[in-house]
Amino acid sequence: MNYQSTRGNSPVVSAAEAIKLGIAPDGGLFVPTDKVTITYEELANLVPLSYGERATFILKHFLTDFTEEELSQCVDAAYGGQKFDTPDVAPVRSLTGDLSVLELWHGPTCAFKDMALQMLPQFLVRAIAKTGETSHIVILVATSGDTGKAALEGFANIPGTSIIVFFPQEGVSEVQKMQMVTQEGQNVHVVAVQGNFDDTQSGVKQVFGDVDFTGTLKEKGYRLSSANSINWGRLVPQIVYYFSAYADLVKSGTIDLGQAINFVVPTGNFGNILAGFYAREMGLPVKRLICASNANNVLTDFIKTGTYNRNREFFKTTSPSMDILISSNLERLLFELTGRQSDKINTWMTELKESGVYNVDQNTLNMVQSVFWSDFATDKETLATIKKVWVQHNYLVDTHTAVAINVLEKYRQTTGDTTHTVVASTASPFKFNSSVAGAIMGPEALAGKNEFQLLQDLSTFTGWPIPRGLRGLNRRPVLHHKVAGKNEIDQAVRNILL
Ligand SMILES: *Cc1c(COP(=O)(O)O)cnc(C)c1O
Repeated sequence: MNYQSTRGNSPVVSAAEAIKLGIAPDGGLFVPTDKVTITYEELANLVPLSYGERATFILKHFLTDFTEEELSQCVDAAYGGQKFDTPDVAPVRSLTGDLSVLELWHGPTCAFKDMALQMLPQFLVRAIAKTGETSHIVILVATSGDTGKAALEGFANIPGTSIIVFFPQEGVSEVQKMQMVTQEGQNVHVVAVQGNFDDTQSGVKQVFGDVDFTGTLKEKGYRLSSANSINWGRLVPQIVYYFSAYADLVKSGTIDLGQAINFVVPTGNFGNILAGFYAREMGLPVKRLICASNANNVLTDFIKTGTYNRNREFFKTTSPSMDILISSNLERLLFELTGRQSDKINTWMTELKESGVYNVDQNTLNMVQSVFWSDFATDKETLATIKKVWVQHNYLVDTHTAVAINVLEKYRQTTGDTTHTVVASTASPFKFNSSVAGAIMGPEALAGKNEFQLLQDLSTFTGWPIPRGLRGLNRRPVLHHKVAGKNEIDQAVRNILL
């Protein structure tokens, strides 16, 4: 299996090369050159397997330049040992006969990004060896919260790599900040930036674009790389849990083999739901993929009208990991649905860059709507949904998952479709504890409390244990004290590396 760029102007490369490069040289995203098909018989064979065995089976179809033994080592390193707090890795919990929850938050940072960021570094070190790369890889990350910690956990102590994470000093929650500044590992660096997330992100982008500086780094044996969600090495591990959830539902007798189900996915950069699309393309029986947005509903508008317009007000919501106006991975979907027409992709992506808007043709829109449905939830609806799910099912969901459940209700009201639906649950309710505690205990329960006290209060109120990744966080030693001005990000990289 090889990989080609969605923009059509880069040479075809191996999986190892695609993972090492991250983004294609022509600015496009790497996609597999061939279609992978999983038969019903193979699907049936997945049912008795462990999560890790299912993962190895799916991955080997895409990463054909990795041996099965290497893939199984990657899987063990990513999901084995004590890294996840359940041996099932991504368990499915059925709430009613037609509603299940796929819990993607049992990893070290309590959010779904662990599913991919525990795996990417394992792929990357092997990809470095396979492609004859001799430089030390330096991962630079600008984070608004979740990605930074998940990348630190994934790359900590990975040989041949270092990681430097920049976060906006005033732009992340107390819990997120403590998760990052207490990170252990001899190759990890964490820097607080005196600015907002945009300042942080543009500072990091500038470092990547500074040809003189990257040249100097190269002479010293360093190569910069990113861990962002457009890397194929982050997307492919996400395909696995769609198959695994299906296999679990067959195993529990909830559905019959071959029966179609829906998934509803709280969406930001379109990475998670795109993995569901690839699973469907491979033959997983999926009827609808329901794309759930918050007030930043650029994807809802796109799926309803075919117009993608990022020129709109940006809202800070209670589901911050979905506060995104450019969903990068949508490019891969459009490439596949147009029958791989790079000229169309180039036109639309140029329009997006230059004017912030593009319109797809009617045929493409029909294709999108034959698979996807979308709506959004306001913050008020999100908090009401957390409360409702708690009261009805004695089950606790975070704000992102609640957005998905609310949108599913809208889908069912609009379409009357009662197909069994799996909700992708992307964060532990303890990760966004002040919203969750406020929703189920009432706003007065928050008065005068910091996030660490609320973790305990939420646990006491619900009887749910605080996840290991968040327990005792405020008592862990702070290991990272670096601070940089918003225009000193390149200097910070220099100080760390040179
Ligand atoms: C990143 C994230 C999302 C959005 O996922 P995408 O792949 O970017 O669409 C949703 N929920 C949580 C908790 C996340 O961290």
